[in-house]
Amino acid sequence: MRITIAQASGFCMGVRMAMNTILKHAHESDEPIETLGPLIHNPQTMELLRKKNVTTVKTPAEVTASTVVIRTHGVPPDIRGQMEARPVRIVDATCPHVKRIHKIIGQYYAKGYAIVIFGDKGHAEVVGLLGCAKGKGYLIQTPDQIGKLPGLGKVCLVAQTTQNLSEYERIKERIRAQYADAAIFDTICRATDQRQAEVVALSKSSDAVVVVGGKNSANSTRLADLARASCTHVFHIETEAELNPADFTGTRSVAIASGASTPSWLLNRVYERLSEIADHQRPLYQRIFIESVKIAVSFNIYLAFGAALAAWTASYIQGMSANYLHMAIAWLYINSMYILNHLTNITENQYQEIFKTDYIYRHRKISILLCMLTGLLSIALAYQSGLSEFILLLVASFAGILYHMKLLPKNNLPFLRNRRLKDITLSKDIGIAMAWAVICAVLPNAGVSLFTSLPSSGEIVAFLFIFILVFIRTIFRDLYDIQRDNIVGRETLPIVLGKKLSLLFPYPLLVLCALVPIAGFFTSLIPANSLLLLVCPAYLLLVYHLFIKNKLAGWAVFSLVLDFTFYAPFLLILAATAGLVPGL
Ligand code: SF4
Repeated sequence: MRITIAQASGFCMGVRMAMNTILKHAHESDEPIETLGPLIHNPQTMELLRKKNVTTVKTPAEVTASTVVIRTHGVPPDIRGQMEARPVRIVDATCPHVKRIHKIIGQYYAKGYAIVIFGDKGHAEVVGLLGCAKGKGYLIQTPDQIGKLPGLGKVCLVAQTTQNLSEYERIKERIRAQYADAAIFDTICRATDQRQAEVVALSKSSDAVVVVGGKNSANSTRLADLARASCTHVFHIETEAELNPADFTGTRSVAIASGASTPSWLLNRVYERLSEIADHQRPLYQRIFIESVKIAVSFNIYLAFGAALAAWTASYIQGMSANYLHMAIAWLYINSMYILNHLTNITENQYQEIFKTDYIYRHRKISILLCMLTGLLSIALAYQSGLSEFILLLVASFAGILYHMKLLPKNNLPFLRNRRLKDITLSKDIGIAMAWAVICAVLPNAGVSLFTSLPSSGEIVAFLFIFILVFIRTIFRDLYDIQRDNIVGRETLPIVLGKKLSLLFPYPLLVLCALVPIAGFFTSLIPANSLLLLVCPAYLLLVYHLFIKNKLAGWAVFSLVLDFTFYAPFLLILAATAGLVPGL
């Protein structure tokens, strides 16, 4: 079963801005926050906000918190006036597209126009728009209703942002025919417009369509209705738990679309569940293979083997022959630390890595055992390797454990709110890259030079190369996890820079990653074949483009493809050494 995710998916711009605003306030203070009406029409997101002490009130009179948020749909001016009269801090999260319509209505009302609004009766946004029209607003749902309106004189036409585009075109035609001088505005937002066009196209080319979104969400319901016009198997669901495998028997292709208020973590969970259903339709040998791959990825065995190969690459850069003991140490250490990370992040990971977290959660005892076993074994091997290696690994392991521990009691102090090292801005990105670089590039030399001499130039090149490579990998992962990190309040680079800037950030890093082996080569600091390391930035560039084009759907595929970065230089250098590809 082929699964396609619509390009326009996850939160739209307005919802993302509102969520960012509210989460920022929630993370800055433990004070309760209230939203006037549900922030968005998505029960799962609202439940998540409730856990963060963000609750909903229906009217300004019910507000008890000191901070109140106006939701994306906006409010009528009289409600805003009532809120401003109260001693509360108002956070306005009204979507800019909705604000624009408020402004249009305000201007044309002042010029004496009657305001015709194409929208759903009772919808929060429409209530706000009618409020702006101050009694001169006329709500319609179909072109036919235009003929039944009283004589209006000058007319201004607007639409609710999430309305059906083709229906609005018909309404515009009818208004033009009846009111030649009407002021008509295109106010259906692009997010809605794109999603509707895409769901129509996908429903024509797929056997089934799954629309993920709140049952009370107007735009999700509209997407499902549009899909039903061309596809007989359409399922409007809120969570993956509603998917019934029997509904997909014989289905060859399924498309996933989502409403503007559906978080991408929920979408990922639906994708993973559909993948599981698809896997069950495969022959046994394929299922065994897929399950084995999932286990290798889930328990970080695949990534840890990549660490062993990164240690090999680091030794190669330094002109040293491979030391299998050091490779094994790198494997075991990385395996242990990543399992520890997942065990201490079960709550956070539930928003993203459904199958991985579920594996670790379901097999928690085995995971704890594996974490301890690999950790202790790495220390034992380091001891066998030498005293310097042993001390270095002990320090690295201790730092890894310390990184996850709560070091301070709960407090509201401005600079001490981060209770764990991993809560400090960028600590994750830098800490992980540093740990890899130390284990892969410094450890092989520890016995020779750790406490006695300065690092060699080859060691510096290897350290920088591994550091940058892992840093880029972590940034890619951060971009993938941006919504989860935002929810849990982790300040990774994409959160600090904002998504737009972060999407540009990998490019200079990739250039830097390419410059290290080039500089090493031209200064003869590293072996000639090391120029083959350029395969890493080239490969990562390809992965990045696939990622931003949504071609790496699903956590398992994303991890498999991304972590192959550590396998690529090893395989290429090996092939060049064997004369299978031209060396340098
Ligand atoms: S769907 Fe459009 S109008 Fe509504 S919140 Fe999102 S961006 Fe704003």
